[in-house]
Amino acid sequence: MYRICVLYTEGLRLSMQTTQRSPSWMVSKNFKASEVCCKHCGVMGMKLDFIALIQEFRDYLGSPVVITSGYRCNLHPSEVSKPSGKIGRHRLGVAMDFHSPGMSLKDLYSKVEAFGKFLGVGVSVSGGFIHCDQREKKARWQYDKSGRDIPWNGEWSALK
Ligand SMILES: [Zn+2]
Ligand SMILES: [Zn+2]
Repeated sequence: MYRICVLYTEGLRLSMQTTQRSPSWMVSKNFKASEVCCKHCGVMGMKLDFIALIQEFRDYLGSPVVITSGYRCNLHPSEVSKPSGKIGRHRLGVAMDFHSPGMSLKDLYSKVEAFGKFLGVGVSVSGGFIHCDQREKKARWQYDKSGRDIPWNGEWSALK
């Protein structure tokens, strides 16, 4: 069993919270609550318009999208380790890290760019995932082996 509480409304957006994850609860056609919720505590903080966007991308891709990190609360280990005061897009509920089984990272990245609706895109070759988020201005970066961002021009051949 799980409980959902509608915490607040932001215009027409709703933010919801689950007190316990239910792996079977679908937040959209292809995404389970367990994929988008905070992996550390199960809180559902992903924005509904971002869920709609990742479902649109999933439909466009026509292949599975496995989210390894979606919403993160402020106590998630990846957030706690950030320099103080820095609030990332995962914490704002508008980011996901993902891969697509059977598809190379390079092909997946070209699909992300062809889709064209994620302004923030980071690639982790060593981690085998792509980060996509909603933001105001276009940004592309890669992650080094310790997970730090390095600016990147978006050219696959320039990846380290
Ligand atoms: Zn958490
Ligand atoms: Zn990320």
